[in-house]
Amino acid sequence: MEDNLIYFDNNSTTPCDPRVVDAMLPWFYQNPGNAASRSHAFGWKAEEAVDYAREQVANLINVESKEIIFTSGATESDNLAIKGVFEMYGRKGNHIITLTTEHKAVLDACDKVEKMGADVTYLEVNNEGLVDLKALEDAITDKTILVSIMWANNETGVIQPMKEIGEICAKKGVLFFSDATQAVGKIPVDPKETGVHLMAFTGHKMYGPKGVGALFVNRKKPRVKVVAQMDGGGHERGMRSGTLNVPGIVGFGKAAELAKQEMAADAARLSVLRDKLESALESRLEEVYVNGSRTHRMPHVTNISFKHVEGEGLMMTFNENIAVSSGSACTSASLEPSYVLVALGLGDDLAHSSIRFSLGRFTKEEEIDRAIELVANGVTHMRDLSPIWEMYKEGVDLDSVQWQEH
Ligand SMILES: *Cc1c(COP(=O)(O)O)cnc(C)c1O
Repeated sequence: MEDNLIYFDNNSTTPCDPRVVDAMLPWFYQNPGNAASRSHAFGWKAEEAVDYAREQVANLINVESKEIIFTSGATESDNLAIKGVFEMYGRKGNHIITLTTEHKAVLDACDKVEKMGADVTYLEVNNEGLVDLKALEDAITDKTILVSIMWANNETGVIQPMKEIGEICAKKGVLFFSDATQAVGKIPVDPKETGVHLMAFTGHKMYGPKGVGALFVNRKKPRVKVVAQMDGGGHERGMRSGTLNVPGIVGFGKAAELAKQEMAADAARLSVLRDKLESALESRLEEVYVNGSRTHRMPHVTNISFKHVEGEGLMMTFNENIAVSSGSACTSASLEPSYVLVALGLGDDLAHSSIRFSLGRFTKEEEIDRAIELVANGVTHMRDLSPIWEMYKEGVDLDSVQWQEH
């Protein structure tokens, strides 16, 4: 990676592990086969490589290889699950339940099926980012066909009570889909044991390549089917047509194998580093807030608001040295605060002042130490320049101030 640039944006994408790259390389030129070519050795070899990778991916989450549908990534898997279930089970009912804090790929797919006649309930989360199980159970009706709840949130790292949700879905006889993109390969994820019937995940969030993902679809008890969203040659048991991305799938398989071997050690090491970063910033700075549950969350993520400091501006003070994401989304016209943080009950100011630090397999302790200095200095610098911070320090009640509109 770039010398000296600290990469703390692993929730956006992870670097591809060099061992994954090595596994992929032969499949670009030496072995160019199409896995669907049945008439020659190039095709057979490619198919064998895909079968092996399918085993590796299935093995990581304790499912059968036949239950893995390869896609182009988690966005496609989310769309296939939600639209595919709605089209397949539409006669049973049209009601879908999800959370306001889901990834855009889930929310936008829900929006699309609403236009096709679905009725979607968007459940709120509490101030820790967690679903209310009672509200979920109460929301299920005899028209409900699907509950879609993400395993771990991409912005905060908050992990939902998956087993309890699975029990509710089983009791009520509704399908349970989870976007597990941020959890797979980082913490143990076992959909069958958890009562999850469909599950989306992707290569590039677990040290594999970009542009390849998977949808797990439960085959027995219950036998789940989705209507294909991509029609063509009938690949992937008819659920997703299109020539398989052989190098990508081989890399995804290798990444899954490595994750299985290394995730426990990675998680243990990264949670220590994450906690060090968090506690150093909390002890050196005032008015620091960690967003989301501190107990139910991923080991490598922290989302922190630095009150009265604008996150995008703060990022500029250190973005030549550290890559992170802020809690604001740059849309063309304005800077919108993150809808995930707003859903946790943060005001616009705290949401705008947030930074997500997501560590990864290649993070070094020395980078944590450097980041503590850079971030603490950046926050102090921004506050020194800020009239609002000065007013706050003088004890002015900022909520009572009448701001002039210009
Ligand atoms: C990154 C991400 C996606 C999108 O995955 P792609 O493979 O980039 O399409 C979907 N859901 C979550 C939770 C993510 O973090």
